[in-house]
Amino acid sequence: MAERQKLYEGKAKIIYATNDPDVLISYFKDDATAFNAQKRGQIADKGIVNCKVATHLFQLLESQGVATHWIETPSEREMRVRAVKIIPLEVVVRNLAAGSLCKQTGLALGTVIAPPLVEFYYKDDALGDPLLTRDRIRIMDIADEAQINELIRLAEEINTILQTFFQRCQITLVDFKLEFGLDQANNILLADEISPDTCRLWDQAKSDQADRVLDKDRFRQDLGQVAEAYQEVLQRILAQFNRK
Ligand code: UDP
Repeated sequence: MAERQKLYEGKAKIIYATNDPDVLISYFKDDATAFNAQKRGQIADKGIVNCKVATHLFQLLESQGVATHWIETPSEREMRVRAVKIIPLEVVVRNLAAGSLCKQTGLALGTVIAPPLVEFYYKDDALGDPLLTRDRIRIMDIADEAQINELIRLAEEINTILQTFFQRCQITLVDFKLEFGLDQANNILLADEISPDTCRLWDQAKSDQADRVLDKDRFRQDLGQVAEAYQEVLQRILAQFNRK
């Protein structure tokens, strides 16, 4: 096979071209970063776990009518995905207060947010991924009004599906980040990944805050047992899929 052309290398994934211009390969690495890449490390087998978790969650969403970039998962660290133009927004959905929301508002960790909050951050490391408003998104020409509305609708729909699914896994979906892209026909597809790197997930069997974290906060906050937490999420997801 010809050497694959690397199109882009991010913090957690590498994107390669294929012979088909409409198809890319997304390769999941074990590298972990936090705090805008000021903290760096590796989490054993994270790429494998996240590729599997994202594969199952994309399949779940597709089965419920959400269009995603996922095509197939030919090996344990690789996904074949539809080529899209990524919209440079991090679309964050929050069911409980955590992370930057607590820091910026003083809301207590775990405060229930109902209805859920959908927020937009600008995907720009140099600017520190700032929180955007609808008007800023519009004047920056990132998305128009109709696209912003569609992104909010999709984020809410995805949240409902994922919340129900994680509830069955006895995991609380605290918050998560989504990225979307546009295909050739300007359809909005869910892209990137959904994994313990991009979600806050709390084990409902545990009450102690440090014990219940099953996501990248274990790495961010040096809570230990990071790889084990990622494996636990995968095992619970697989158990639900195998029950079907
Ligand atoms: N998130 C992400 N990538 C980012 C920033 C946030 O995947 O670059 C996820 C994060 O894991 C959490 C949610 O988005 O599940 C909300 O993150 P928050 O705004 O609280 O920022 P953080 O506290 O992670 O800096």
